[in-house]
Parts: sequence; structure tokens; C-alpha cells
Amino acid sequence: MSTHKLSFEESLEKVVLAEKCMGCAACVVVCPFVCLQYSEEMPKLVKKCEACGICPRVCPRYDLSYPALEKFAFERERKPEEEFGIYRRIVVAKSSDENVLQVCQDGGVVTSLLVFALENGMIDGAVVSGISEEKPFYPISRLATNPQEVLECAGTRYSYSPNLLAFHEAIKLKKRDLAFVGTPCQIHALRKIQIIPLRKYADPLKFTIGLMCTESFTYEGLMEKQIEGTLGVNLHSVKKINIKAKVLVTQRSGEIKVIPLAEAKRYTRKSCTFCTDFSGELADISAGGLGLSGWTVCVIRTRVGEELFEGAEGAGVLKTMPIEEEKGALDLLTKLSKRKRKTVSPP
Ligand SMILES: Cc1cc2nc3c(=O)[nH]c(=O)nc-3n(C[C@H](O)[C@H](O)[C@H](O)COP(=O)(O)OP(=O)(O)OC[C@H]3O[C@@H](n4cnc5c(N)ncnc54)[C@H](O)[C@@H]3O)c2cc1C
Ligand code: SF4
Ligand code: SF4
Ligand code: SF4
Repeated sequence: MSTHKLSFEESLEKVVLAEKCMGCAACVVVCPFVCLQYSEEMPKLVKKCEACGICPRVCPRYDLSYPALEKFAFERERKPEEEFGIYRRIVVAKSSDENVLQVCQDGGVVTSLLVFALENGMIDGAVVSGISEEKPFYPISRLATNPQEVLECAGTRYSYSPNLLAFHEAIKLKKRDLAFVGTPCQIHALRKIQIIPLRKYADPLKFTIGLMCTESFTYEGLMEKQIEGTLGVNLHSVKKINIKAKVLVTQRSGEIKVIPLAEAKRYTRKSCTFCTDFSGELADISAGGLGLSGWTVCVIRTRVGEELFEGAEGAGVLKTMPIEEEKGALDLLTKLSKRKRKTVSPP
């Protein structure tokens, strides 16, 4: 058996050059020799690679094996009829907290679960996506350590947020019990970290919430060219952006402007066209709006996810209703998951 360990140049540089790198930052975080820096949404080699072979093992775009990761997360592989992955329960839910509903994207379930976990001592930090003060809706990864900080980070930014960078900061701060919220590609990286395992990162990770994701958009394209340029909307006046078959731009005045989805898709990040996971199949809980207004569809996948969700539900933090009452959302979840699974996986 070959003992040759791959260098960054032999492995990931090919991924990066082929534009399949989505900039998750996992390689940057785990490099034990600090050879990589995160620059312009990509890893950049800043000193001689020691060819330790670790970064390709955590990269979601390098040698990703769903069966291996499913066996690790669920102790079995997905059956073909499990079209949006393995799960224990699927339910439609919303927060009971009016303060959360004011700022969240859909039903505020993600924010409420994090607040519940923090208030009950289950975690000492939540890795989420914050917002740049200078550039409205420009996402920056953030560690939230109290409910107020979690609330400040509610809502969706449709550009890429490299949340693993804040995860790294949390590890450096010696946080012991962390929640992680991120896109499916980021959950893949974390599962690869757990399966190795890289204990320094795997041990403090208590649960993950995956955000269902069709694509993310370049900030320059969607926000600056389309919304600010073509639509003529000052980004500082935007309260919320949501995608419900079309892009809905809600301004602080209450006025809603609409962009056809096809126009926004011109600014889809290239790397997202290689993505095979819509629903966050490897997360403990997956959350998506799926066309609903004011509710979050929650796919509860693992025992850890179920205990958290049921704890919050039992405490009255969440209101729920059966998915059968929103059959359209279930059909959409199935359709979008199947479509993405057909995407040609990167080599
Ligand atoms: C890029 C992107 C694309 C999405 N596409 C779809 C889709 O096609 N269909 C669908 O049904 N749902 C999609 N979602 C998920 C949806 O927008 C909501 O995040 C989800 O329904 C949870 O709603 P909530 O009200 O419970 O979340 P909230 O309580 O509002 O919490 C949202 C959490 O997401 C975090 N977050 C915000 N932006 C990002 C980001 N860019 N990257 C990582 N974390 C972030 C926030 O920090 C917060 O913790 C997408 C989300 C993202 C980030
Ligand atoms: S993790 Fe190892 S292989 Fe990757 S860049 Fe760092 S030293 Fe090189
Ligand atoms: S996809 Fe993530 S781990 Fe892979 S090269 Fe890009 S930033 Fe690094
Ligand atoms: S479409 Fe895939 S690669 Fe792109 S942000 Fe979403 S999960 Fe990541």
C-alpha cells in the first residue's frame, strides 16, 4: 500500500483551479502547518506545503463518499427511496418568540433552537453567519455566545458565508460545546473532519443545522449589480431578501420589489453548479423554507437532533404542525433533492 501523502498542489489545487472549490475554508482551518490563508473566498497557499495529506481528507469536493459519511452519521446507508436523505422525523415549525419572528428568514426555528441550546447550557457557542457593518447583506462568519448575538445573526444572506472560519476561532477560544449552522457543503466538511477524526475539531461539535440550499450567489452580482444597479434599490434600505420562486426584496418602507429567479441565477456561484446536496443530508437537523411563508420545514435526522428539537418543542419554544398539511413543500423538497443528486459529482 502506498504511504505517499498528497500535497495541496497534488490534490486541492486541482479542485480550486477547476472552479469546484466553494470556499468552505475547511482546508484552511485544519492545516497543521498554517500553510493556507483564506483570500477572496478561496484557500491560498502562502508557504511551502508539508504534504501531510490532511486537507484533501476534509475537502467536500475531494473524494466525497456519501455511503461512508452516512454510515458514520446514521450507522447505515441511505436507501434509494430516501430521496432527501435519512431522517427520523419531518415537521413544519415556527418559533413562539415574537422577537425571533421579527428578524428570522422563515419560521425562526434555527435561531430558536440555538437560543434554547445556549439558555439550557447545551452549548457555549453557536457558529452562524453575521452581517458586515459596511456592506449590507454581506455575510461574515460569526461565533455567537449569547441569545442576543444569535438574534443579530438571524435571517438569510444568499452569498457564501465561510462559517468554518468562525468555528476555527471558537476552537482557538477553547469553546467546548458548539453548534454549527451552515450550508450542506459545510456540513460535508464537518462530517469528514469527524470521520477521520480530527479530535480537536470533532469533539467540541455538539450538533449541526444544515440550511437547505439550491445555490448561493456572488455578492457583486446579486446584491450590487442586480439589486443596487438594475433594481435601483439602496442596499442600506433593504430589510429582507427571500427567495420564493422569485427573489423578493423587502425594503424598510415595506415596499417589495421582485426579481425573476432566472435573472438572479446569472449570478449563481460557479462552484454551486457541482453541488449534489440540496437538503443538508448529513446534518443533525436540516431547515428550509420550501416556498412556505413564516414556517420552516425541519428534517430531523439524528438522535442528537431529535433530542434537541423535542426539548425545544416540549418547552414551548417551537410550534409545530404535521408535514402532511404542507404537501407542496414536501413535494418540492423531494424534487429539489432528486435534481441535485443527479448533478455530476466532482472527481
Ligand atoms: C445560501 C442559502 C441558500 C438557501 N436556499 C434555500 C432554498 O433554495 N430553499 C429553501 O427552502 N431554503 C433555502 N435556504 C434556507 C432558508 O433561507 C432558511 O435559512 C431556512 O429556512 C431557516 O429559516 P429560519 O427562519 O428557521 O432561520 P433563522 O432563524 O432566520 O436562522 C438562519 C440562520 O442561518 C444563518 N445564515 C444566514 N445566512 C447564511 C449563509 N449564507 N451561510 C450560512 N449560514 C447562514 C444565520 O446566521 C442564522 O443562524 C437557503 C439558505 C442559504 C444560506
Ligand atoms: S494540510 Fe498538509 S497537505 Fe494541506 S496544505 Fe497543509 S501541509 Fe499541505
Ligand atoms: S472546497 Fe473547501 S476544503 Fe476544498 S479546496 Fe475549497 S475551501 Fe478548501
Ligand atoms: S449550492 Fe451547494 S456548494 Fe453552493 S452553497 Fe449551497 S450547499 Fe454549498
